Parts: sequence; structure tokens; C-alpha cells
Amino acid sequence: MKARGLAALSAQSALTTFEFERRELGSHDVALDIAYAGICHSDIHQVREEWGPAIFPMVPGHEIAGTVSAIGESVTKFKIGDRIGVGVFIDSCRTCASCLSGLQQYCEEGMTGTYNTLERDGTTVALGGYSNLFVINEDYAVHIPENLALDGVAPLLCAGITLYSPLRKWNVGKGSKVAVMGLGGLGHMGVKFAAALGAEVTVLSHSASKRDDAIEMGATHFVDTSVPRALKPLHKSFDLILNTVSASLDINSYLNLLKLDATLVVIGLPGKPYEVNVGALLDGRRRIAGSMIGGIPEMQEMLDFCGLHSIVSDVEVIDASYANTAYERTIASDVKYRFVIDGATF
Ligand code: NAP
Ligand code: ZN
Ligand code: ZN
Repeated sequence: MKARGLAALSAQSALTTFEFERRELGSHDVALDIAYAGICHSDIHQVREEWGPAIFPMVPGHEIAGTVSAIGESVTKFKIGDRIGVGVFIDSCRTCASCLSGLQQYCEEGMTGTYNTLERDGTTVALGGYSNLFVINEDYAVHIPENLALDGVAPLLCAGITLYSPLRKWNVGKGSKVAVMGLGGLGHMGVKFAAALGAEVTVLSHSASKRDDAIEMGATHFVDTSVPRALKPLHKSFDLILNTVSASLDINSYLNLLKLDATLVVIGLPGKPYEVNVGALLDGRRRIAGSMIGGIPEMQEMLDFCGLHSIVSDVEVIDASYANTAYERTIASDVKYRFVIDGATF
């Protein structure tokens, strides 16, 4: 199938228009017309090889919302016309303990990413969602609730699930005090979900101009971290801190904000190691944990939760021709709060 999209040809090049082939439908495949594709900061990290050597040409994009246009002969999960979402992985081994428990993102053989990786045949380069159409095995796609607009849904497929999963894992609910570091694509979903779960939410942001938006999204407190000693009054305040910051920072000043036995979950992946002051961990038996997206069952649970609570991402819809500018604005923390590319403009 002929597809059109945007690709990076090298780590130094801008995104450029690109034509390529998608596979013909296998018996368990569905084809979808992409309505919107979100721009995740992980796309930028990978295009620029900030996480190590990458595969080019690269078609980024793993926040995909669209409509089913064709189905293989054995497909049972979807029918033509269904609203469908695809996230950060398109396959996994299906047989390991993680896959069998619906945690495909932690597949023991490694999940098969939506792009910048080889598919499970070991030769086909996976090409992502900055394109007009997609083909995927039905087991690795999810249903989108009818009441949600597709542009605001696209970012849920990565940014949404990545914040929903740790909030559920650490049992956030009424009475929980949660801090979200960084109010970008991921962070703003963390605020919405934590507030919907009943938590008291504090945003820790280095952009003072985002204060009103943070409160509007459900935060109770907003702290401008660029103000000297801004964090001091927050010592030992939080049950859970979600770090979504895409850049390196001094993690120790944030560890001090955790209560006894509380956890700071690292979600942002700047590509450089953090220096951890062990003393900040010992005092209060604190923990640092990681969390990576979510599995297929939890993605569906998250979308159903969004349908129930009318939660979508705050998006700026752009044409494909604006994507390079959108990258620069994202790096400059100038995005409110996710760029999504209109699939009709590829
Ligand atoms: P984003 O939209 O660019 O948001 C990142 C936010 O971090 C910015 O809006 C900004 O918030 C803050 N920030 C950026 N540079 C900063 C700096 N120099 N100092 C302090 N704060 C800074 O990025 P995103 O798409 O949400 O992704 C965030 C990170 O999560 C990326 O590293 C991405 O690769 C990673 N990620 C991880 C997973 C996972 O499964 N764990 C999934 C998706 C993405 P303020 O302006 O509010 O300070
Ligand atoms: Zn992502
Ligand atoms: Zn597996």
C-alpha cells in the first residue's frame, strides 16, 4: 500500500516529505486512515539520536488516532469505520510472562516499537505515524470512545497512558498528594488524570506562564521552580512525584520533597544519567522508580476512563509542513500542550 508521510533522513536533517510502502493486509491486520498523529518529545530524542544510533530514513510518530479503512479476513476486534488508536509498540513476543499478563511494553524479548526498530521478522524497518495510513495487527490497537474528539485523543496513546499507568500502579486516589514535574505533553495528562482520580495535585514547572493553565487542568498548587529556593517549603510533602521533564536536572532537590516511603517515578528520558545523592534516599526510605507507557489492556482502560470523564489532551492542530517548527517549539517548552499533525496534510 502506498503511504505518504514525513521522515528524517539523518540525525542532522529536518523532517521532509516521504513516500513509502506499507505491507498488504495480513489476515489479522487492520488498515487505518490516520486522522491525527501527536508529536511526542521521544520522537525528537530519537530523530536527533539523543538515545543512541537510530535507523534512517525514520518516520516518527507513536500517538496515532484514526478510522479503520480495511480489515483482514480473520479480524474480529475491529470493523470498517471503527475509531482506532495505536501507541508506542506494534508487536511483542506474545508468550513471555509480561506479554501474557498484558504488560507488552515490558516484553522479555523487547517490545517492537512503532518506529526506529526492526519488526519481528528481523528485516522490515518499522515506520511510524507521521503518515496518512497505517497497518497493524488487531491485537496491538485499541478502541477509541465515541464521545472523544480524535485530535485530543491522539496524544493519549503515549502521553496519556504513560501518566495513567504509574498513577494506577501507585494507587493514587482521594487523599493522595501528587506532584507533576514539567507541564508538557506528558505532564498535563498527569495533572488531568491525578485530579480525576481525586488527588491533590501540585505542578512543579520552570515556566511561570503556565500557572493558570495548570489550575484549569485540575492542579491545586503551582510552583515556579525557576525561583530560588522555591522547593524548600515543599520538603516531605508528596506521596508520589512524577518526573516528566525531558531535560537533565538535579533530581536530589526533588527527592527531598517525598514523604516517608514515598516514590519519585522517572518518566522523562533525557538520555543522560541523573546523579543521585544516596543520602536523600536514605532519609525517609524514599524510592526512585521508572515507568514506561502501558500495556494493551491498560491502554484500553485508560481510554475508557477518558470517555467516562471526558478527558482529552489540550492540542494545537498543525499541518505536516509545520512539524519542524513544532519540534523547535516543543524543545523550548512552548507547546500548549501537545502538537498533533492533521493526517489530511501529509
Ligand atoms: P514536552 O512536551 O517537551 O514536555 C517536557 C516538559 O519538561 C516541558 O514542557 C517543560 O515543562 C519541562 N522542561 C523541558 N526542558 C526543561 C529544562 N531545561 N528544565 C526544566 N524543565 C524543563 O515532552 P513530553 O513529550 O511530555 O516528554 C517528556 C519526556 O518523557 C521526554 O524525555 C520523553 O522522551 C519522555 N517519555 C517517556 C515515556 C515513558 O514511557 N517513560 C513516554 C513518552 C515520553 P515546564 O515548562 O512546565 O517546566
Ligand atoms: Zn511518546
Ligand atoms: Zn513478550
